[in-house]
Amino acid sequence: MPVTRMPAAPKTASSGPGIKTDFEGYFRAALDKLHGERRYRVFADIERVAGRFPQANWRRQDGSIREITVWCSNDYLGMGQHPEVVNAMTETAKRCGVGAGGTRNIAGNNSPLVDLERELADLHGKEAGLVFTSGYVSNQAGISTIARLIPNCLILSDAFNHNSMIEGVRHSGCEKRIFRHNDLAHLEELLIEAGDRPKLIVFESVYSMDGDVAPIGKICDLADRYGAMTYLDEVHAVGLYGERGAGISERDGVMHRVDVIEGTLAKGFGCVGGYITGTSAVLDAVRSFAAGFIFTTALPPAVAAAARASVRYLKRSQVEREAHQRQAAQTKAALEAAGLPVLHTETHIVPVMVGDAELCKAAADHLLECHGIYIQPINYPTVPRGTERLRITPSPFHDAAQIEKLTAALAETWDALDLPRAGTVFVEAAE
Ligand code: PLP
Repeated sequence: MPVTRMPAAPKTASSGPGIKTDFEGYFRAALDKLHGERRYRVFADIERVAGRFPQANWRRQDGSIREITVWCSNDYLGMGQHPEVVNAMTETAKRCGVGAGGTRNIAGNNSPLVDLERELADLHGKEAGLVFTSGYVSNQAGISTIARLIPNCLILSDAFNHNSMIEGVRHSGCEKRIFRHNDLAHLEELLIEAGDRPKLIVFESVYSMDGDVAPIGKICDLADRYGAMTYLDEVHAVGLYGERGAGISERDGVMHRVDVIEGTLAKGFGCVGGYITGTSAVLDAVRSFAAGFIFTTALPPAVAAAARASVRYLKRSQVEREAHQRQAAQTKAALEAAGLPVLHTETHIVPVMVGDAELCKAAADHLLECHGIYIQPINYPTVPRGTERLRITPSPFHDAAQIEKLTAALAETWDALDLPRAGTVFVEAAE
């Protein structure tokens, strides 16, 4: 016989013995702390203009609109506005609608998504690909599930890994050791210490804040020597490096040596979503056990179709990659010639150091207000205190005139705010 539950009586102020908690106060106090540390984030209202990359419309608080140039986009190649990509999205949205209709368990597969996974597996030369709703989720779900399914797994994680990887490691519940950033000797020491137990090395190819690159081949050598599995995040490299845009591991000829390659569809490919590629067994296991895959609505078919169009296009076209590297090199040279404290990088990322959170925000505000240039300030916890910076990401579409304008604007800003020049040593502040 069905049991009918009576709804609980609503609690009123007089129904319980407790003093009413000031919940709002907790949130205000947390925000006050952020303000006090000069870490409170304010998002500018920036509307990109299709077909005019890197131009955008900045909507001020008073409602007025000003055209500006964006110098910090992670849509590194402007693929988010590429006609083939936009057409794939609009055509598929007209055909299939805009949502996915549920998780893949509920809504099933759809062909744009399955085609995209095949495209990604082919890109990285792996047996299979699995798409998630973001690169963040792919790392969190991918790393945690893979490590959890390996009994007694020890995770060896680079000290500079992205938060999504750190969360993946944490969620796995496995023991972990952190190796000093890109330090092969330290990694080897930890591998030896670990002995015979199963080991998973997790690392990135391009580290996005310093723009440096991992010695992927040498890490694979160590993995081979000590019997470890490898998981590589190519988020800041896919689309941008390698003959077909598969990333640094392709450029360096070591892609086949990495067990799992993770990437995003949101940066070089200009869309949204993330993925992992690897053997069919690993990917089928992640598909079957990862909560971050199972319990969330799938990527919509129109997004999958757009991402696939972008991946396919960048597999065959070198024009964007070449122009990207050329414009990044020209930007670095121009800023260095102007005496600005550019952090030397071997990639497309151009950090200009400030070394103070408040000044970094002030520099970004000044550039936007006085020069119509948008560069988001990068402060703690994204980078250590004392190493705050403007992170500039030139694209193939930033031309010589725009580079010249950027250089003059930065030089004027550095003078106006009396910011540190080239030659300054930026030291991480002690926590
Ligand atoms: N991995 C790295 C190294 C990242 O920097 C980011 C985001 O910036 C991600 C993963 C997450 O990717 P997504 O933006 O697609 O969630």
